[in-house]
Amino acid sequence: MPQTKILLDESDIPTHWYNVVADMPNQPAPPLGPDGKPIGPEALAPIFPMALIEQEVSAERWIPIPEPVREAYRLYRPSPMFRAHRLEQMLGTPAHIYYKYEGVSPAGSHKDNTAIAQAYYNAQAGIHRLATETGAGQWGCSLALAGQMFGIDVRVFMVKVSYDQKPFRRSMMHTWGAEVFASPSPHTATGRRALEVDPDSPGSLGMAISEAVEEAASRPDTNYALGSVLNHVCHHQTIIGQEAKKQFEKVGEYPDVVIACCGGGSNFAGAAFPFLADKAAGDPRAKNLRLLAVEPTSCPTLTRGHYAYDFGDSVGLTPLMLMYTLGHDFMPPSIHAGGLRYHGDSPLVSQLYHEKLIEAVAVPQLATFEAGVAFARSEGIIPAPESCHAIRACIDEAMQCKETGEPKVLFFNLSGHGHFDMASYDKYFSGQLEDYEYPAAAIDEALHHLPKVG
Ligand SMILES: *Cc1c(COP(=O)(O)O)cnc(C)c1O
Repeated sequence: MPQTKILLDESDIPTHWYNVVADMPNQPAPPLGPDGKPIGPEALAPIFPMALIEQEVSAERWIPIPEPVREAYRLYRPSPMFRAHRLEQMLGTPAHIYYKYEGVSPAGSHKDNTAIAQAYYNAQAGIHRLATETGAGQWGCSLALAGQMFGIDVRVFMVKVSYDQKPFRRSMMHTWGAEVFASPSPHTATGRRALEVDPDSPGSLGMAISEAVEEAASRPDTNYALGSVLNHVCHHQTIIGQEAKKQFEKVGEYPDVVIACCGGGSNFAGAAFPFLADKAAGDPRAKNLRLLAVEPTSCPTLTRGHYAYDFGDSVGLTPLMLMYTLGHDFMPPSIHAGGLRYHGDSPLVSQLYHEKLIEAVAVPQLATFEAGVAFARSEGIIPAPESCHAIRACIDEAMQCKETGEPKVLFFNLSGHGHFDMASYDKYFSGQLEDYEYPAAAIDEALHHLPKVG
C-alpha cells in the first residue's frame, strides 16, 4: 500500500503567513464606522494591538512569522497529512482522498494557530489581559492555552447553552488558567440587559462577542481577541495550506478540490488561500482547482445569506463589515457543530465567494454525523462535528468520482477532533438529532434589520 502518513520536518514550518489580499482581483471593501464612513486603523486601537491592526489592513503578500510564534508552533507543527486509503476503499472510489489533521494541537483544533500569534502580539504590546467569547468552547480553550504561554490572563464569555452542555471544555479553560462566564452574564451592561429581558436566555455567539468587546473597550488593561472572521485571523491560518502544498509535493500530487468547513471562515481560508495563490500566479496545476466551503443548512450564511454591511456582534458594538450575513440578531438553532453557528462570515471569504473565485455548499446535520462516523470507522480519528461538514462534502465528491470513474485528488482540512463532542455523537446514535433547514422567512426578515448604509 502506498504512503499513508505524510510528514514534514520542523524546518518546514512556514516562515511567513500568506495574505490573499495581495492576489485578490478587487481590493477588500473597507470596514465602516457608526457614521457609515470607512474607519481608520486607529478606531481599532482600543481593543487590538497595532501589530495585528497592521495585518488587518495589510496588502503585503507575505507577513513574517515572529520566531517566538514559530517556536510555539513547534509543539504540534507541522501537522500531519494523511492519504485516506481506508476511506477510499470503503467508498469504492477511484478518487485519492487526502486530509490534514489540525486536531494534533494541544487544544484540539486549528484555532491554536491564531491564538498563539494573537497572544504573542498582545504580550509584545504590554497587554496582560484578554477578553474573548467562545461558542462551543474550542476558541476559548485555544486562547486560554496561548494566554498561559505568553503571560496573559484570559477572560472568556461562553455562550450559555454550551456552558451548560460542554462542561469539559470549561474545565480545560480552567486548567489553562482562564476565567469563564456563561453569556449573557451579569458582568457587562450588555449581558445585564439581555438577562433582564430573558433570565433564561441561551445566549448566542453574537451576544458573547458584544460582552467581550464591551469589556475590552471599557478597560484600558484589556484587549479583545477574535478566533475567526477577521483578516489577520485568516492570514494566520494559512500555515495549514502552505504545509499541505509541501506535503502534496512529497507525494507528487496536486488537489483538484480543496474542501473545508466554514463557520467564520478562517480554517477554510487557511486551507484554501495558499492554493488560490497558485491559481492567481497562473500555475497550470491549479487551472481547474475548485475551493469548496461547507456550511450547515441550519446556518447557511454563504449559500442563503445577504451580501451586505452588518455588525459582527449582536448589539452593534463592532465596525460594519461587508460580508454574507443572516443578520446580526440571528438566533441560531442549537445544532451540534457549535463552531459553525455564526451569523456572518469572513469578509475575505465572502468577497471571494461573491466574485465566484470559491464555491460553497450547505449540508444537513444528520448527513454530517453519518459521514463523521464513516470516517471514524475507516480512518480511526473521531472528527469534530464542524469537521464532519468537510468530510460530508468530500465523500459526496468522492462518490461522484465513482460514478464518472475520474481519479480526482480531493483534499480536506480535518479542523479538529471530536473528543469533547461525544454527547452529540450519542444523540446521533440514539436518533435524537434532527435536520434543520433555516426558514426562508427568517432570512427575509433579517434583511429588514440590517444596518442602513450607502
Ligand atoms: C471553530 C471551529 C471551526 C470553525 O472554524 P472557522 O475558522 O470559524 O470557520 C471548525 N472546526 C473546528 C474543529 C472548530 O473548532
